[in-house]
This record gives sequence, C-alpha cells and structure tokens, in this order.
Amino acid sequence: MGKSNFTEVKTGIYQFKGVSNFYLVLDSESFVVDTGLPGKTGQLENCLNTLGKSPNDIGVIVLTHHHFDHTGSLNKIKQLTGARIAAHKDDWPYISGEKSYEGPFFMKPITKLMNIIYNIKPVKTDMILNDGDKIADYTVIHTPGHTPGSVCLYNPLNKVLFVGDNMSFNKGVLNPPSGRLLPDPLNYRKSMEKLGEIDVETILTGHGEPVTTNANKLIKELLVTLSG
Ligand SMILES: [Zn+2]
Ligand SMILES: [Zn+2]
Repeated sequence: MGKSNFTEVKTGIYQFKGVSNFYLVLDSESFVVDTGLPGKTGQLENCLNTLGKSPNDIGVIVLTHHHFDHTGSLNKIKQLTGARIAAHKDDWPYISGEKSYEGPFFMKPITKLMNIIYNIKPVKTDMILNDGDKIADYTVIHTPGHTPGSVCLYNPLNKVLFVGDNMSFNKGVLNPPSGRLLPDPLNYRKSMEKLGEIDVETILTGHGEPVTTNANKLIKELLVTLSG
C-alpha cells in the first residue's frame, strides 16, 4: 500500500499537502478549493478513486486567489473534472490573463518562469464570485489584502473557514502574509476584522497546518497584532 497523499481534516474535507495546500470538499455540490502547484492532478484523481467518487462529481473549483502556487494545476483539474472555475471578480483578470500580475516585484519573474516551465495557460471566466455568494453550504467572504480578490469560504454549519493565504499557522500563532506579500495592509486589517466576527472552529490554510482548536481566539490575537 502506498502512503496516501491526502488527509481527511474534517468530515468530508480532504487536504492535499504540498508547497501550497489544496482541498476536496464533499458537500451538496462537491468542490475543490485551490489546485496547488502544477502536477497535482494525480493526487486528486487518486483520492477520488479511493473515496469511490468520480471526477464529474466535482461541480466547482474555487480559487482563493490568483497566485500560481494555487492555480498551477487549474487547467488539468478543469480538464479532469469539467467543473466550473470560480474566483472573485478582482482576481479574475489575472487568472484569465487579461491583466498581468503586478504584485511584489520578485513574484513577477517567478510567475512568468513558472508559466513557461509548466505551460500554464490562462483560463476563461466561468463563475465570478462576489462577497456573500454561496458554494454549497459555504459563503464567500471577500478578504482583499494579499491580493485584491482574495476570498475566504465559511460554513456556519461545521464552522470551517478556508483562508487561502490570508493567514498561516505556525508554532501556535496565526500570522498575516509578510511584507511584500501584503501589498494592501489597510484593507487586510478590515478583512481580518470581518473574520473576527464569525464563529470558527477549523481554519484551513493555503500553507502549513490547519487550526483545529481555539480558532476564534487565535483570530482575535492576530487582530491585536494588526492594530496600531
Ligand atoms: Zn498567495
Ligand atoms: Zn500561496
């Protein structure tokens, strides 16, 4: 038996670990959150096989934001599943190739290089997300800061919050994106204040480990570090 490359982090939610994490969520409509770096499609396929699911069972691929470490396998996973691709209106132009990425200067050549190496092609707009939209039992929360169209997904029933790169969990502390990866700190703080108002039990991050205890308290502590 090969070591399985996915973990059930919460009932019906499967995490694929890597440089960046992505997730499969089995819900009234099943969906994938982000797609990881290029070459990750096999992991998803293997997981679906193990669970006795078909790629066609996935209705939507939700992108927390446009960065290449979250969209690398997008084309291939779209091909595999036929799912609609959903992203916030403010990040769509970067995913569709309409706008080129103008983030921190060092990301630009990396993104360009990755696009060439992995032959990442822009995709067409399928589903434009706005704050308050629903994907199955999950509500889209627009949280600009890391990118203009960063989103979180929140389910009030299981109190799971997908945060993408809005925060990472390390040594018991939630950290904001650092320096150049936070081009809009003002809006970021407002975004995190929104998250401080909801009741969260599990935080599923784009990088690193999930938060499974004291989630509300940890978000409050993050907020304190942002004030002043
Ligand atoms: Zn990012
Ligand atoms: Zn990332």
